[in-house]
Amino acid sequence: MRYISTRGGVSPVTFSEAVMMGLATDGGLLLPDRIPTVDGQTLAKWSQLSFPDLAKEVIGLFMEEDDIPASDLAKLVDRSFASFSHPEVTPVVSVGDRYILELFHGPTLAFKDVALQFLGNLFEYILAKKGGQLNIIGATSGDTGSAAIHGVRGRAGIKIFILHPRGRVSPIQERQMTTVQDDNVYNIAIEGTFDDGQAIVKQLFNDLDFKESYQLGAVNSINWARILAQIVYYFYAWGQVGKSTLQPVTFSVPTGNFGDIFAGYMAHRMGLPVEKLLLATNRNDILSRFFNTGTYQAGEVFSTISPSMDIQVSSNFERYLYYLLDEDSAQVKELMEQFSQEGSFGVSDAVLAKSKPLISARAISEKETKETISSVYKKDNYLLDPHTAVGVCAAEGIVGAICLATAHPAKFGQAVMDASGQEPELPLPLQGVMERPTRCQILPASFDHVRNHIKKVLD
Ligand SMILES: *Cc1c(COP(=O)(O)O)cnc(C)c1O
Repeated sequence: MRYISTRGGVSPVTFSEAVMMGLATDGGLLLPDRIPTVDGQTLAKWSQLSFPDLAKEVIGLFMEEDDIPASDLAKLVDRSFASFSHPEVTPVVSVGDRYILELFHGPTLAFKDVALQFLGNLFEYILAKKGGQLNIIGATSGDTGSAAIHGVRGRAGIKIFILHPRGRVSPIQERQMTTVQDDNVYNIAIEGTFDDGQAIVKQLFNDLDFKESYQLGAVNSINWARILAQIVYYFYAWGQVGKSTLQPVTFSVPTGNFGDIFAGYMAHRMGLPVEKLLLATNRNDILSRFFNTGTYQAGEVFSTISPSMDIQVSSNFERYLYYLLDEDSAQVKELMEQFSQEGSFGVSDAVLAKSKPLISARAISEKETKETISSVYKKDNYLLDPHTAVGVCAAEGIVGAICLATAHPAKFGQAVMDASGQEPELPLPLQGVMERPTRCQILPASFDHVRNHIKKVLD
């Protein structure tokens, strides 16, 4: 299997090369050159496997033995999911008339750990094999930064620099990043906003001299390995509730950058019996507008109580668009270029109609989100975090739907408390986090200051 770009401008690369490339060099996103499929017998067999053993099967289909041998992959997978606090890694629980797929038992209590624990191990393995260093740089509004730090802390050959806006992430999120004491972790609090941080990181990557001499890399959600790790839990959840009867199920997915739901789409293409994928957004509804009207148009970004979904441009959407347009990379390129110039593009009704049998999209208001947290707590005695509540609300009335729980309620304790009157209990990894010593460099929100700081560390 080789990897190609959605925009057609990259000669096919191996899985390892795709992981190190991140964003395709032609500006597109990398995808496998074919989608492996599995039959009913395999699905039945897979439904009996533990999460790590299933991960070895699913992930192994996407790489060649002479790139990453199965025995090495097995070790990487075991190491990646040993950091989860639940023995099932991603357990499915029955709550009222739906299921909740709990994806928040990793070290930072968000579903991003599933992918970033794997990616951290993978980076370390590939670097050890081919030699070299990787310096990861990213800006965060909270969740991704901490999951990335915990994914690569203490890993050989890797340093990570994460910029967060000083005083503008939640106290817990800040401590999850700054209390990490490993030498290869560098927190930078900038005196500015998340957008300032993002702009500085973009400028660093555009400084090609700097990028080359210091081996800069990114961990954002466009890395193929992140999608790949997320495919696993769709199969796992189906196995837990379908009991190998080949019955299709509906998944409800709180969506921002379209990474999580794209993994569900891939699982479906591989042969998983999926009835529907419910795409649930908060008030930032670019995706639900696309799936309901065929127009992809960026709007204003609103702050909500589900901040990890407060985005307007959805970085993984291009992967889905590629398949929706029957793998016509020239057309993808044209539409994405139109989007970057004009801020919007549209597809025909005939093209949009092809998405309908599988994907239904809905934007959920703040009021609906709070009501869902409150009513599920009252009726079913289960506390939802605000992101998960968006997905649960979108699945209302669909008996047996599997709703992806993307964060632990304690991560967004104040919003959960306001909606339900109940304060979520702090789980073990967070207990005492506010008292631990911190490490963090405070800098002005200036490109030069950040660049000089990173240079000083690396020289
Ligand atoms: C990142 C995130 C999402 C959105 O996932 P995408 O893959 O970007 O669609 C939803 N919920 C939480 C808690 C997140 O951290």
